[in-house]
Amino acid sequence: MWVDTHGHLFLLADAPGVVLGRARAAGVRWVMCPGVDLVTSQQARQIAADHPDTVLWSAGLHPHDASTWPTVRDDITELAQQASAIGECGLDWYRNLAPKEHQVQSFADQLELAQALGKPIIIHCRDAFADVFEMVGNAELGERAVLHCWTGGPKWTKRFRELGVTFSFAGPLTYTTADTLRLGAAQAPPERTMVETDSPYLTPEPKRSESNEPANVVLTGAALAEVWGMAASQVAELTSRTAARVFGAPGAWASTGGDHG
Ligand SMILES: [Zn+2]
Repeated sequence: MWVDTHGHLFLLADAPGVVLGRARAAGVRWVMCPGVDLVTSQQARQIAADHPDTVLWSAGLHPHDASTWPTVRDDITELAQQASAIGECGLDWYRNLAPKEHQVQSFADQLELAQALGKPIIIHCRDAFADVFEMVGNAELGERAVLHCWTGGPKWTKRFRELGVTFSFAGPLTYTTADTLRLGAAQAPPERTMVETDSPYLTPEPKRSESNEPANVVLTGAALAEVWGMAASQVAELTSRTAARVFGAPGAWASTGGDHG
């Protein structure tokens, strides 16, 4: 059984119950649903409340919206007390939708929040490896720093590995053009690696033309199994155990290894 450690269930066309039913049928045990701003963090909380055995949620502000941080900081900080994680937050020097200093301030405050609450933080890092490396390194969060949709090659994967972070791989791992990413994945420690969909984005091959959903995490897991030369069932076991250790696990799965190590 798999865990999708990053699915924006509030963005999917089908209702969460329908999507989660298909996920279960595909062998997906539970889903972490990260908010990207105040409203979607509240939506994620509601979805988790409606599906206590299959959904965890997080509260945070995405770097694209970092300029709104001063107006939502207090509310997101309050929500974060109830959430299983902080984020999605981070730095994005590729799309640069918010000024650099706003992104840095918003990310720095959310790292501090994760430290203060002792909770994991879900990090978006796009073309910002050096800056994320410095900020995450200073925060000293160990495996509670989760690098979502990791796209680093071998060099950055080895450097971040030394920080003790958790890596999470998404659909791009299945793309024919992603050889450098697969070389990076080969350097990711199997006991500190997870898989995710980033639904509704980044659908894995061979479904790339469709909208993404948690059931498809199985395809990314299979790609990771190929990189590591392991059976898919072993990768499912390893990544699910890591997800439960880092995030805790929802209701029904909490007794099966949801210990915050
Ligand atoms: Zn995301």
